[in-house]
Amino acid sequence: RIAYVNGRYVRHADAAVNVEDRGYQFADGVYEVCEVARGYIVDMKRHLDRLDRSLRALSIAWPMHRRAFELVLREVVNRNGVLNGLVYLQVTRGVAPRDFLFPAQAAPAVVITARKVDPAIAARRAETGIKVITVPENRWDRVDIKSVGLLPNVLAKQAAKEAGAQEAWFVDTDGTVKEGGSSNAWIVTADGRLVTRPAEHGILRGITRTTLLEVAAGLGLAVEERGFTVAEAKAAREAFISSATTIAMPVVEIDGSPIANGHPGSMVLSLRAAFFDVAEKCQA
Ligand code: PLP
Repeated sequence: RIAYVNGRYVRHADAAVNVEDRGYQFADGVYEVCEVARGYIVDMKRHLDRLDRSLRALSIAWPMHRRAFELVLREVVNRNGVLNGLVYLQVTRGVAPRDFLFPAQAAPAVVITARKVDPAIAARRAETGIKVITVPENRWDRVDIKSVGLLPNVLAKQAAKEAGAQEAWFVDTDGTVKEGGSSNAWIVTADGRLVTRPAEHGILRGITRTTLLEVAAGLGLAVEERGFTVAEAKAAREAFISSATTIAMPVVEIDGSPIANGHPGSMVLSLRAAFFDVAEKCQA
């Protein structure tokens, strides 16, 4: 495997960053994960738009021109022979002697990796669906920035695993569902409306979420962007999560309560099936 590190393509096994990289010491950096499907990087432009937003929010400069960044992403995918899988990129504020204040000199540091993932794994998982637990929201209020500071997400997802589930939903004190540890949360109401929380505040604006809203519009589905509670989700006709790596993945159980008959719903499966017809395909 080949990784891109600060201007060089290196063997993945030899890839290394400086011990004083601020990403390592302060989680002072941002990242993106893009799906690679049939040799295409899915929704690359939207991912780079969000990267731009995250970088601006933290006053980190682009490490290179955006066009160059696109070329490097494609190159890493190609050099790793990834037809299906994912490409990971992270940009940190760079390397400087440890100090909280922004360094005057440091150039942003970049790491890009790619890896193959067999699409049959997610396809099989979608046939049975996943289980979700709920956990209290304990993150900061700038989760709209895709920061590499993911410790609450790590702990929540580990708790999910230990409970026999595959995702954890962060829940506000008022009982509304924010989002998953690495996904956005959706339900389908008894009368067939698709519901997901507005992305203006308190969640990451998922790229898959945005594209799925377009898929839903194309299918003529009724959509409500509003908050929903855990109780409403448990009583819903369907529940599911979305992310670049899972696309739209049925949720069949929340905190041990089966959703509807405990099988994946039909609406999430049609959204999933139509996703790649709508998503932007960037030749890798
Ligand atoms: N919310 C969180 C906290 C995430 O970490 C992710 C993806 O990793 C998402 C939502 C889904 O975003 P996307 O669809 O862009 O992958």
